[in-house]
Amino acid sequence: MVTRRHAVSLFLAAPFCAGPALAQGTGPLPVMASFSILADMVRQVGGEHVAVTSLVGPDGDAHSYAPTPADARALAAAKVIVVNGLGFEGWMTRLVRSSGTRAKVITAASGVTPLKAEEAHGHGHSHGHSHGANDPHAWQNVANARLYVKAIASGLSEADGARAEAYQRNAAAYDATLVALDTEIRAAIGAIPRAQRRLLTTHDAFRYFARAYEVDVLAVRGVSSDSEPSARQIAAIIRQIREGKVSALFMENISDPRAIQRIAAETGAKIGGKLFSDALSEAGGPAATYVDMMRHNARQIAGAMAQG
Ligand SMILES: [Zn+2]
Repeated sequence: MVTRRHAVSLFLAAPFCAGPALAQGTGPLPVMASFSILADMVRQVGGEHVAVTSLVGPDGDAHSYAPTPADARALAAAKVIVVNGLGFEGWMTRLVRSSGTRAKVITAASGVTPLKAEEAHGHGHSHGHSHGANDPHAWQNVANARLYVKAIASGLSEADGARAEAYQRNAAAYDATLVALDTEIRAAIGAIPRAQRRLLTTHDAFRYFARAYEVDVLAVRGVSSDSEPSARQIAAIIRQIREGKVSALFMENISDPRAIQRIAAETGAKIGGKLFSDALSEAGGPAATYVDMMRHNARQIAGAMAQG
């Protein structure tokens, strides 16, 4: 285990007080991530060298999060802040500014080629805030997650140069895990005939997944989770299910399941389970890490489509 090896080398270095890591202070680097998926990635790269907290916790919805004064204080204490970017957590920019933090800010998706946000089913968002022009859910493609890890590793290395080698080594090991995960997802989805790969989710969080793994995904709502579907949108979805354009329906951990349940009841279509879109599960749940989340989603999707 990589983490264990680091712990040992720190112990060995301690009595001599010679390591550059010790010259800069021995405590773990305080890191604040905007949401749980990023927090896990930072833990994988940082190991015992980082103390990570997530502003939006497991099963939380980062689209509509309302930061508290305590969040601003926590940001002020962080040495590194990790955000997704692509307009995902718009509230974060303001929070970083108002907190007065001097932390280094890492934008995890900075290396990603974004998909443009499509207005779902022709309705416009008319809220007082902007969701941006890009679809932020880039982590749903493992190839993008590898870019996230690269950005996180280089950001941590810059902020904490004494431990740069450890960050790079952990990132390389984690990257190999992600490559294997990507292969596993391709095999699971690839086993389903292409014409059967059509699913319906609550909010449009799976477009990167759809592109990467060749699945057709419909969503009741757009790329943000805070717009209620109109009766007209639900009617359009029901029509598409009746025309055989959907083979599996899914609920999400961060979204209200009622629209999907209503659609299932009206069409007789079966709900294939729950997908984790924008947040991990609690520890001990089926999606406690990014790798577990992607594996869980792929298995649920493949299992439901196989019957469709
Ligand atoms: Zn989302």
